[in-house]
Parts: sequence; structure tokens; C-alpha cells
Amino acid sequence: MVLYSGSFAAQDVLCDLRSDTVTKPCAEMRAAMAGAELGDDCYGDDPTVARLEAQLAERMGKDAGVFFPTGCMSNLACLMAQCARGDEVITGRDYHVYADEAGSPSVLGGLSLEPLPVAEDGALEPGDIRAALKPDDQHYAVSRLLSLENTVGGRAIPLPRMQAAAAAGREAGLALHLDGARFFNAITALGCTDTDLAGLADTVSLCLSKGVGAPAGTVLVGPAPVLAKARRARKLLGGGMRQSGVLAAAALWGLEHVVPRMAEDHARAVDLAEALRPLGQVRQATNMVFFTPADAVAAEIGPRLAAQGIRISAGGPEIRLVLHRDVDDAALASAIAAFQSLG
Ligand SMILES: *Cc1c(COP(=O)(O)O)cnc(C)c1O
Repeated sequence: MVLYSGSFAAQDVLCDLRSDTVTKPCAEMRAAMAGAELGDDCYGDDPTVARLEAQLAERMGKDAGVFFPTGCMSNLACLMAQCARGDEVITGRDYHVYADEAGSPSVLGGLSLEPLPVAEDGALEPGDIRAALKPDDQHYAVSRLLSLENTVGGRAIPLPRMQAAAAAGREAGLALHLDGARFFNAITALGCTDTDLAGLADTVSLCLSKGVGAPAGTVLVGPAPVLAKARRARKLLGGGMRQSGVLAAAALWGLEHVVPRMAEDHARAVDLAEALRPLGQVRQATNMVFFTPADAVAAEIGPRLAAQGIRISAGGPEIRLVLHRDVDDAALASAIAAFQSLG
């Protein structure tokens, strides 16, 4: 992926569509951070972290939560908590845990991964899951856990499709993990409750640094015994934090004020997709737009947009554009005008 920074100063950026991780805390979020009650979380002393963990656990209908610095660490600690070295994790070939975490389940967890093809809608097919299960035989790794994801590439996978995959895992006695880095985008698009989706899995990883708008952090929720092991794995991986309530406060503010407005990001993604349609191929899913520009538009698209204050990630022929709370109507209008100037 090529990240165009352009030759302009940071204050000249009008609209940053590279990712929903680029959001910066607004004045109100910073005020919540500044006012947070803090303590050393490795002594269990940080009341703001404890509040965030308890709030998300309750919202998701789980026993407990643990606050991690990143989603990668949350996913890895969750797998390590539930699998022994040499056990097998079944997941999707395009899923983050397999494709985008530097091979950490294998490198650090000693786990064997079985990546399955991902269907058009982002789901795993129950038949593929059943076919991937290993018989109890000394030649094979022990199939232990099924790791699902939602949203996948922006697509909110419908509940019946999630249920079908989960059922295939359950029948085989696998533990079930849901990588819900964009969980709130998923439930916003599906129009379901938190527990409708979270209830399908034993453990759910919820990123707070994406659409929720916090500067960092992910909460893993699930059964108390699993979370106790995940907390130990967090320490093992170097992720035990101290006065991390300063980050948890940002997440709590985002859960209260940003999550209820997430549909606005999706609506702006629809508007952006509509505006780009004359300029190439476009598809939209939740807060993401995937744009394959026509040849006339594609040449030097990153630097040409950067020169107009619009930041994108342009690697392959298809460009992923991501909406988030720092793209308001004015920023979106400037982005659309810049794209239109290319045509
Ligand atoms: C972003 C993301 C993660 C975690 O990424 P971090 O950068 O480690 O926070 C995990 N899974 C998915 C699907 C993601 O999009």
C-alpha cells in the first residue's frame, strides 16, 4: 500500500480518506481524557479502564472485558487464551487475524492456521468449515477455534450467514471468536442489537480506534476464565498498561457520542459512491467505498488529490476510501470536488 502524504503541511489536509484510524480526538473527547480518574491498571487501580471493560462486557452480554492497546494484541491474546501451542485456528483467508497481523498467531502463539476462502458477502461457508475440521489423528493439528469477522472489507455480513458459520463451529466443539474491529459499523448496518451479533461468539474483540474515534485501544469481551487468561497473555505480550484510563476515557466518550451517529458515516459513503460513479467502478459497504478509477482518472491519482488536500491510500487498481467522524459534510464536499476535477 502506498500512503501519499503529499508535499503540503498537515493543516492543509481537507479530507483524509485513508482509514477510519486517522481520526483525532476532538475538544470534548480531550476534555473527557483530561478529566479521567486514573490509577495503575496493572494493580487493578484504574477506575476508568474498569468502567470501560465492565460497560462493554455488559453491553455484549459477556462476563468480563480486558482493555488492550491494539486490536492485533486483543485477537492474539484471545487465541492464546483458548488454544495450546500446536492447536489449529480456522479462519478466513482475507480475515485480519490471518492476513494482516504479521503472522502473530503462528510466530508468537505457536498456532496453526487454516485459512478458508471468504464468500462474496464476507462470510465463511459452513461446508468449508466442516471440511477443514481435522480428525483426531496424530498427523493433524487439533482444530480448536473458529475465528470469524464482521465487518469484512466494509461488508456487514447478515446474521443468518454468521449464525450458519457459527453453528458449524459449535457442532464441532470449537471455541468461537468474533473479530469485531468494526463491530459497531456492522450492527448499525444490520439494524440489530449488540447481543444479536455478539451472542454468536464466545469472545468478541471491539476496536475503539476506528469508527469510535478514540486514539487507541481495543476491548476483548467474553467468559471470565478466558478473559483471565487473556489478561495474562496481554502481560506476556508487553501490553499491560498503567494509567491507561486516559485512553479508556476517550473510548467511553466515543461509545456515548460517536457510535449513535455512525449511520452518518455510512450515509456519506453512499454520497461519495454516487459522486464517483461517473469516474470509474464503485462499490460501497458501510463506511467504505471501493473505487477503481477509469484510466483517464487513475494516473497519479494520489499525488493529484494530495495537491488538493485530499489524502487517500492508492496501492492497487482498487482504492479503498474510508469515512469516519473527522469527515464532515464540508470535508466530503471538498473531496468530491477534487475527484471530479480529475475527470
Ligand atoms: C484494524 C483491525 C484489527 C486491529 O488492528 P490494530 O491496528 O492492531 O488495532 C483487527 N481486525 C480487523 C478486521 C481490523 O480491521
